[in-house]
Parts: sequence; C-alpha cells; structure tokens
Amino acid sequence: VIYAARGVVTMTSEDEPADAIAVQDGRVAAVGMLADLLEHHRDTEVVELAEGVIVPGFHDAHMHLAETAEDLLNVDVSPPGAPSLAALEERLRARAQVTPPGDWIRASRYDDSKTGPSLLTRHDLDEVSTDHPILVVHVASHWGIANSLALAAAGIDESSEAPDGGGYGRDAAGQLNGMVLERSLFEFLYPGERDPVVPPSSQADRLDGLAQATAMFHAAGLTSVVDAFVSPEDVDLLCAGAESGAMSLRVDVLVGHEHYDWVRELAPGAGLAGDQVTLGGVKAFLDGAIAGRTCLVEEPIRGSDSHGIQTLATDELHELVSRVGADGHTLAVHANGDRAIGMLLDAFEAEASRTGRSRRHRIEHCSIVTPELVGRLREIGASAIPFGSYVHYYGRQLEEWYGEERVGRMFAHRWLLDAGVPTAGSSDYPCGPYEPLLGIQSCVTRRGADGELVGPNQRVSAREALALYTTGAAAVTGHAHERGRLAPGYVADFAVLGANPLEVAEDEIASVPLLATYVGGRRVWPV
Ligand SMILES: [Zn+2]
Repeated sequence: VIYAARGVVTMTSEDEPADAIAVQDGRVAAVGMLADLLEHHRDTEVVELAEGVIVPGFHDAHMHLAETAEDLLNVDVSPPGAPSLAALEERLRARAQVTPPGDWIRASRYDDSKTGPSLLTRHDLDEVSTDHPILVVHVASHWGIANSLALAAAGIDESSEAPDGGGYGRDAAGQLNGMVLERSLFEFLYPGERDPVVPPSSQADRLDGLAQATAMFHAAGLTSVVDAFVSPEDVDLLCAGAESGAMSLRVDVLVGHEHYDWVRELAPGAGLAGDQVTLGGVKAFLDGAIAGRTCLVEEPIRGSDSHGIQTLATDELHELVSRVGADGHTLAVHANGDRAIGMLLDAFEAEASRTGRSRRHRIEHCSIVTPELVGRLREIGASAIPFGSYVHYYGRQLEEWYGEERVGRMFAHRWLLDAGVPTAGSSDYPCGPYEPLLGIQSCVTRRGADGELVGPNQRVSAREALALYTTGAAAVTGHAHERGRLAPGYVADFAVLGANPLEVAEDEIASVPLLATYVGGRRVWPV
C-alpha cells in the first residue's frame, strides 16, 4: 500500500522532500515523492490521506498503561470534573449509590493543587460513606487519602507506625488525617510481602479498561509506550491485551524491582507477547515527586525546611545497581531531585569502576539537574527521561514550589541535548497530560497553560522536541534500528496530522488535529 499525503516528516538525517510512503508487511518499503514511488510500485493500492502530514508514531518513554487501564474503571476526580472538594465528594457519592456496601470505591487523579479549598481528609470521605472503604489516589500516585473504613481495612489505627519508606498523615491535633504516603499507599494497591489491601479488579474488567486506554492513546498519535512500573500480573494483562487485539500499542515494561526474581528468568529485552510487549528493564524509586513536593533536593523545598524523602536506602540502591547490571538488565530509577540524581550517579559510577564497564541505565524524570550532574550523566552513559508536559500542566506553581533559579534547571531538555545525553519525551501519565503534541509544545515554549514562562533557558526547537517523542524515545528504549523514523525497514507506525508541527506557530503545536494513527501499517485510530 502507498499512503499519499501533503508531506512526510521522516526524522531521518536526510529528510528529503517526501509526500508518500510505501508499506509492505507492516514495514516501510520506501519513502519519497508519490510519482517516484509509483514508478517502482506500479500495481500498488494508493490510499489518499489528502491534506494530512505523516509523522513517525509518537513514543512515550515513561507512562503508566496498566495503571490507566485500572484507573479508567475508577472514579475520575481529576480537576476538570472535580474542581472543588464538594464536586469531588459528589462524584464519589454517585459511585457509592451504585456500589454494594462493603465494596471498595477507588478514585484516581486527585490534584490537591487544583481541587480546593483545602486538603481532602478522611473526614470528608467519611461523609461520603461509612459503608464503603474509599481510597482517593493523588495524580502523582505517591500518596492517597483513605476514609476511616479503608484505614481499618489496612489495620491502620492511631497507634500504628508507618513502615520504612512510607508514612501516615496527621492533623494539627496529631490524629490520622487519612493520608497514606509512598510505601504505605503501595501496600493498599500492589502485591508485595502481603496481598494488596484493595482487592484487584477482575481480568475481564481490566482488559476492558486496557482497550479504552489504548483507544485514548492512539487518538493522540501514540504508537509505542513504556509502561514504567508493572508487576508480573500487569504484564499478564498487557500480554492478554496484545494477544486478543484489545491492546495495539507497542509496549516496553519496566518491572518493579521487588519482582526481580521473576525478571531474572528472562533475557534482557525478551519478547513477552511476540515483539509487541517486551522487557524494558527493572524499576526502582529513589525519591518522591515534583508535584508531591517530596523529591530529594539539595536546597529545601520553598517555604519549608524539607529536603524531600529518600524511598530506597543507599546501600540497597548500590546493591540493586550491581545485581541488575551484572545480569545485563537495564535499571530504571525514579530520581527527581538533584540530591537523588547525584546519589544515583554515585551508584552507577561505583558499578562502572568495579566492573570496568557502564550500562545504559535510565534515570526516570531526572527533573532537577546541575551542569555538573549533566556532565556526569554523559560520562557514565545513562539516559534521561524528563517530563515533557509538566511545564504546561503546572506553570507558575513550579516556581512557587521550587523558586525561579531551580526551575531554570528543571526538565533540562536544552542542557541534556547539548551534552549529548540520550533523552526521551515522556508524560508520566496519569501524572501529566499524555498528548505528545502538547508535550512538544510545552518543551518548545516552556509556557504553562497559565501563560507563565518557566525556565525559558531550557527551550528546544520544534524538531528537537518532536525527536524526543520519536527518535529519542526509540534510542533510549533500544528500538532505534526500527522505530522513531520513517525509512525503509522501519516499522510502519505513523500518525497523520492536519498540519506540519514543525511549521505551525509554536503555541499552536498542541492544537494540530490528529487525523489517523497507524501501527504496523494498520489503521488503529479511528477504527
Ligand atoms: Zn511514573
């Protein structure tokens, strides 16, 4: 089949003028001007994409696909639908009315910085229901708010001590306010030493959620994603989705390090569902979140004396880096703050000097850096996966939390690219907006939705930003030989846009309409 359009952005170094691509067996056979392609492919069917512009399919190097599948089954309390606590409670009350007493009510994407006027507490949730355990998870997924019944289900009472790496929020009087942080939240949701407190949804429900998530991401032009924190059960779900056709994204998985025994049985990069779902590496967390104001920083968070929290002990980190590295797997460590990134580089450097070689490990988010840290990143050969759409999403709040000087070295795409550090675009959805065109615009303009300029010294060009979500993500994930470009032999994954994002005004990139998305030469959106 030949797809003919107004233009093709190939993302190859030549980037010669092209308006058509020929596709055979799911791969690109040729790219060029339609007249030339027709000479070599005489009897080929031509699909006219009319005014469309073809770009390589977008690749999000860090997001949460299996979690999204689950989230789509939960009550959505993100700010557009729940701009106030009253509206949030209304949404939960509606779900309570159709939920049998005793069954859990879960809500996702609560954002305390946008849903006011005050922090949600267990008491607000007790007003919604005392017959249902309720857990509301913050958009960054590092903390949540439980009602009294949910706390009781987890065995948490006023005298409980939080586990290492976790925490319970308390009010001014020292009473539990319902907040559960980090590991204490994870104990609700994920299997660990114990079963999760909240019973998982059925596989049939999750597959339904996965199909919805897939459609949502294809509609934004995404063809490949990294699911950045999965359990073996999540992998089963993704593989079942791939095999049944409910899930048509290409997915690399980063498996939580607590499941390392499971990973060890696999070869690095192993195919888990053909080559559609593959093992990307092992995931660990070293600190908290940017939006949670819990990342580990050298200078205290503004307006407090907190340096954030470290969620993995330093000796455990070193042990993990050497164990995972020795087995040849990629280690992907969540490190937002400059202190956390420095500690992680210490561990990578220690491994390199001990073994005489360095692995291409990943630093997830790698949010707050210094020129010195960027230099060390380049030396050790690690990849950086900064947030692409956080500037747009948080705008001036970033400055309020971290100060003007620090936001100038936050999501430092300019510095990372200039240093030659392999750098990929990512949304961390559901923590940030998933639309790649919005992420690209955010990296180009460094403007929040509120119009605020945030660290404009880190601006990149539209082509560099598009590269983050195509060639950059392909390079970081080890797929550079067949994804990220439209060239002979590459997979025929592409998006058809209503305008060329490299030619429109920089504040109009996010508004470029998406006309269609193809994976392996097959149209997956619209269907
Ligand atoms: Zn994440």
